[in-house]
Amino acid sequence: MSNQKNRTGWKLEHSYSKLPSFFYSTQKPVPVKSPEPVIYNQELAQELGLKLDKNDLDVFAGNKLPEGSVPLSMAYAGHQFGYFTILGDGRAVLLGEQITPEGKRFDIQLKGSGRTPYSRGGDGRAVLGPMLREYIISEAMHSMKIPTTRSLAVVTTGEPVYRESVKAGAVLTRVASSHIRVGTFEFAAKKGTKDDVRALADYTIARHFPSLQNDENRYVLLLKEVVQAQASLIALWLLTGFIHGVMNTDNMAISGETIDYGPCAFMDIYDPDTVFSSIDYHGRYAYQRQPKMAVWNLARFSETLLPLLSDHVDQAVQIAKEAIDEFHVLFHEHWMSGMRKKLGLFQEEDQDQALFDDLLNILRENKADYTNTFRALTIERPEDIRLNCSAFDNWYTHWDNRRSNQTPTKDKAMQMMKNANPSVIPRNHRVEDALVAAEDKNDLSIMEKLLHVLKDPYAYSPDQEEYAQLPRPSSCIYRTYCGT
Ligand code: AMP
Ligand code: MG
Repeated sequence: MSNQKNRTGWKLEHSYSKLPSFFYSTQKPVPVKSPEPVIYNQELAQELGLKLDKNDLDVFAGNKLPEGSVPLSMAYAGHQFGYFTILGDGRAVLLGEQITPEGKRFDIQLKGSGRTPYSRGGDGRAVLGPMLREYIISEAMHSMKIPTTRSLAVVTTGEPVYRESVKAGAVLTRVASSHIRVGTFEFAAKKGTKDDVRALADYTIARHFPSLQNDENRYVLLLKEVVQAQASLIALWLLTGFIHGVMNTDNMAISGETIDYGPCAFMDIYDPDTVFSSIDYHGRYAYQRQPKMAVWNLARFSETLLPLLSDHVDQAVQIAKEAIDEFHVLFHEHWMSGMRKKLGLFQEEDQDQALFDDLLNILRENKADYTNTFRALTIERPEDIRLNCSAFDNWYTHWDNRRSNQTPTKDKAMQMMKNANPSVIPRNHRVEDALVAAEDKNDLSIMEKLLHVLKDPYAYSPDQEEYAQLPRPSSCIYRTYCGT
């Protein structure tokens, strides 16, 4: 047994199952008919300390359990588009927490692994296209240094999945620093006692913010840490043009990682009101509303903590309010400093906000591409035809003077810009092409090439050039579907 453990590298622990039992259900993945590996993330496997060969990949279909696994599905709740619901892993199981050779702890979760006690009306399964989509975009986010869950493997199940049409079933293996969500706290507060919320809060602190463990103010500090992590994360989303699409409280991880890649997408043309998700009828989660929605979610989180913040309700509410009000300050600082990097500016100046707003207004008015404008500025070729206007010329001259008058050399500024402006993003039309080829033609080559160029988005290598091309006008109105 121990030889086997050493060979495969599985080193699973189960700290989550020490929480009160109503936080989860013991649940095995449901085996599938004929699993076939589609993609396996060797590099991530190595970081996790796994040394698997072809015969070991059945664990990613749920047909075999890895050594030491005691699988479970997590209970949680969530506000979905503003409405409270009891949810839970309806199609996922946590195989365990892998302890890496560096001593880090990561949840290993199968998504699409069959029905669970939380499945409600669902079939517990997932479709190949959306699982590959999560793989591509989560790995691209990681390469862009945006905190995110990651993707270790996708396998097909050999079983049909019935959606609007019959699709190929698949299972994704997701790796996360944890799957504790705002919705997990909402579940504890709704269904449990103050002691259950405290147990979850203490567990979360031990796992994610261990330095707070012995602090008598640890619960308010937990809230502040989560506010800080979300402010930083959402600023990174906005700086890269990312739209999550379904920022329900069950899809907000306490760790500050981006989680649950459903209808998410990157914006092409800069428009702050952009919405891609077909189910976001009222634009609740539009690009520019994401900070506001994060605050809304954090308010729901803080409500669950109120009994732990003070014995006096008014005081608890005041403490929570002050912590959450900090979001806007922190978000603004992160966003401003990110924009300075994108534009190669080392020093802060009073007019920075106006400089950034002016550029964004020009992009919006001229329907210019967000990523490509910064890319063009980075390689000194602002040749997007839509920016052929005097407003942009004036802005450019002003910015160029500002950048040239700094102490560090222009070379250093250009280098900073290169590290802050991705030369390539997973553009919707490219992702679609890759998924169509994989799903309809069993051709993985387009996806593999896309994954290759996305590996180092700041490389500015010649093979990335073609990936900067915009979609044909006919494919501009892009819709994403939860169609999972
Ligand atoms: P999501 O929109 O992916 O965040 O999922 C919202 C909730 O629906 C979660 O509790 C999921 O586990 C559940 N869910 C989504 N798809 C399915 C499915 N096919 N079968 C069962 N539960 C599902
Ligand atoms: Mg979800």
